[in-house]
Amino acid sequence: MRDLSSYPAEPFRIKVVEVPKMLDRPEREKAIVEAGYNTFLLNSEDCYIDLLTDSGTTAMSDQQWAGLMVGDEAYGGSKNWYHLKAAVQEYYGFEYVTPTHQGRGAENLLSTLMIEEGQYVPMNMYFTTTRYHQEKNGATFVDVIIDEGHDSTAKDVPFKGNIDIAKLEKLVAEVGAEKIAYICLAVTVNLAGGQPVSMQNMKDVRAFADKHGIKVFSDATRCVENAYFIKKREKGYENKTIKEILKETMSYFDGCTMSGKKDCLVNIGGFLAMNDEDLYNRSRELVVVYEGMPSYGGMAGRDMEAMAIGIKESVDYNYIEHRVEQVAYLADRLLDAGVPIVEPAGGHAVFLDAKRFLPHLTQDDFPAQSLAAALYVEGGVRAMERGIISAGRDKITGDHHRPELELVRLTIPRRVYTYKHMDVIADAVIRLYEKRDEIKGLEFVYEPPMLRFFNARFKIK
Ligand SMILES: *Cc1c(COP(=O)(O)O)cnc(C)c1O
Repeated sequence: MRDLSSYPAEPFRIKVVEVPKMLDRPEREKAIVEAGYNTFLLNSEDCYIDLLTDSGTTAMSDQQWAGLMVGDEAYGGSKNWYHLKAAVQEYYGFEYVTPTHQGRGAENLLSTLMIEEGQYVPMNMYFTTTRYHQEKNGATFVDVIIDEGHDSTAKDVPFKGNIDIAKLEKLVAEVGAEKIAYICLAVTVNLAGGQPVSMQNMKDVRAFADKHGIKVFSDATRCVENAYFIKKREKGYENKTIKEILKETMSYFDGCTMSGKKDCLVNIGGFLAMNDEDLYNRSRELVVVYEGMPSYGGMAGRDMEAMAIGIKESVDYNYIEHRVEQVAYLADRLLDAGVPIVEPAGGHAVFLDAKRFLPHLTQDDFPAQSLAAALYVEGGVRAMERGIISAGRDKITGDHHRPELELVRLTIPRRVYTYKHMDVIADAVIRLYEKRDEIKGLEFVYEPPMLRFFNARFKIK
């Protein structure tokens, strides 16, 4: 493990605290049974450390809270909307912005406007809501991430989120460029473990797309974390600012969908941004059906103000360095104890490799689901399954998708927890690892037809 002094100190002071309950073990055992062994269904109040997601769980700054007070709740043309638009234009570099209530609102708009029945959308690994909207609009999703993205042990690959250009070439050769609705490039790749994409790869994808007349959109959800990795790992970027790297990143795309709940440091919000005026006009027509006026898109004026401020704060080097290195600290503690995790650690989370953690279970025993439930009972730590349950079923054969990676995601909220919290998490995982043989598989009691991981219920096999 690295020298402890090399992890950066918290670049903030704590002004408000939230006091969590600390249930004892019998109470936690009761809570997980009541939740059907699904950590999504636990009450937040029953979790001491909540790592379910980094989505919308950010602690806002005093400046952002002050911004809430200047919310202009006009139905049309709120001043906060102009602040948000200006921030997106300055930091992301796109000309046009359509606000949405969160990331999936933007995905809905983009997929509806860009996809025709029977087309294909290649992407560097899937994301749950992103793929859902693509498939709902008639597209076939094609995973084009490099093979190492699916290998939790490929630890010497600095940019495991990259697109494999050969896979794109193969797809275009098979189906023809006109059948590609657009290429979707996520930075970072959430389900691969928060793995980054290199600037070189984005340039290569852009060049490939231009050659074939295909558009490229980014799922920009964690683009600031990606910028930090580029600064640390890619030659030529060491002396560039995060702001400069972010802007260059976005320059290779025709537009992006954004979940403001991640790298914009807010609790709710999102946007679709683009350079094409016609697409923008069509998104303005559609946004009123699903979200609201094109000047608020499902957000309150005050939320747009907080997001405009969050966008500026997110590119501060001290913030993003601490964010990513705190995740690395947790990963390093687990690696030190021999716990199998996805390597290298990503930007927003540490992913336990449930296949290697629980080798006595098969994928049909839902090992990651079971491990997440066991971790809650062990330490009051709530994590999330990202494996066979999240992957859902094939819409044609009806069988489970069987992802290579069967993971438990320990997602670290931004600016919420300290290094001591990381120790508590690591200690609970390590204790569990020492008695891993006792963890049993699960089976469905209730399986929802869509995005089943949110509401599914299980029992011990
Ligand atoms: C969270 C997320 C989304 C969807 O955004 P929401 O704000 O939750 O609707 C899309 N893509 C990725 C990679 C995400 O992590």
